[in-house]
Amino acid sequence: MKKVALIFTGGTIAMKVNSKLQGAVPSVTPSELISTLAEVTEYDNLEPYEFSKLPSPSITPEKMYELKKVVDQYLADDNFAGVVIVHGTDTLEETAFYLDVVSTHDKPVVLTGSMKNASDLGYDGLTNLVSAIKVVMEPQSRGKGVFVVMNYSINAACEVSKTHTLNLDTFKSFEFGPIGIIDDDDVIYFRKQIQRKAYKLKNKYNELTYLIKVYAGMTGEMIDYYVENGAKGIVIEALGRGNVPAVMMDSIRNARRKGVEVVIVSRCIGGRVLDSYGYIGGGKDLIKAGCILGGNLSGPKARILLMIAIENGYNHDALIDIFTM
Ligand code: ASP
Repeated sequence: MKKVALIFTGGTIAMKVNSKLQGAVPSVTPSELISTLAEVTEYDNLEPYEFSKLPSPSITPEKMYELKKVVDQYLADDNFAGVVIVHGTDTLEETAFYLDVVSTHDKPVVLTGSMKNASDLGYDGLTNLVSAIKVVMEPQSRGKGVFVVMNYSINAACEVSKTHTLNLDTFKSFEFGPIGIIDDDDVIYFRKQIQRKAYKLKNKYNELTYLIKVYAGMTGEMIDYYVENGAKGIVIEALGRGNVPAVMMDSIRNARRKGVEVVIVSRCIGGRVLDSYGYIGGGKDLIKAGCILGGNLSGPKARILLMIAIENGYNHDALIDIFTM
């Protein structure tokens, strides 16, 4: 039987409540988790690797970059069927999408975590870990990119977002539903990923890439600030179909004049952006100003793609191509 690498980065799955702090903190080691797993399952093909013990709000693009290098070592080894990455749920979708954008292998890479910590009644960490291992060991999982597996659902990294602060069923592919499920010993796929492009970009990123969210009455100050501080790219989570207040346009035009790439996505949780509106600040005006429409990627995902594509040397036209659905 081929081995499965379990790469631990941290997260609630490896936390317990500290009575002094009255809050969950990192405290479960990979070997503790593996030996608990050994009590309830028969897997003897697991190889743990402790990458970090970080709550996922502290996971950075640099960590994602380092993680990809570790993942590649396991994927290149014929003894391994694939990799499970244990990760905090807060930024899990960003790490998953980063790994998908730079993915070069057919072997499955699965991210999982838990919503409850190991002191909680109904801790979901072990179930999620077992589901993730089953997905890696399923031959049909090859060539499908990076997955997020939680609460018996298999979601594609390119489609999934954390949608609830508390529910165990928090990871949803809001528009299209999960690509499959884990039901007892069966891993069942329903469909292909709808949004997935095989980007195959090189593992490098440009840190000077930002994300801002538009609200009623917003001005261009944040854009000016980032441009003055050397931004290379800015993702704007715009309103509705992809529109911004008219008063932001001067700052956006200035950003483009200075060569800053500006990608427009929507703050709505579903649907694409499109140039349906011709008023100042509408989609047509944004395109005329040289902005790129980011399809139905979420803001955090569009920022991950932009930071990687810029560092891969993609020019404006190549960026339009990569962001077009
Ligand atoms: N705050 C935690 C983290 O992302 C949440 C979790 O793991 O579920 O590290």
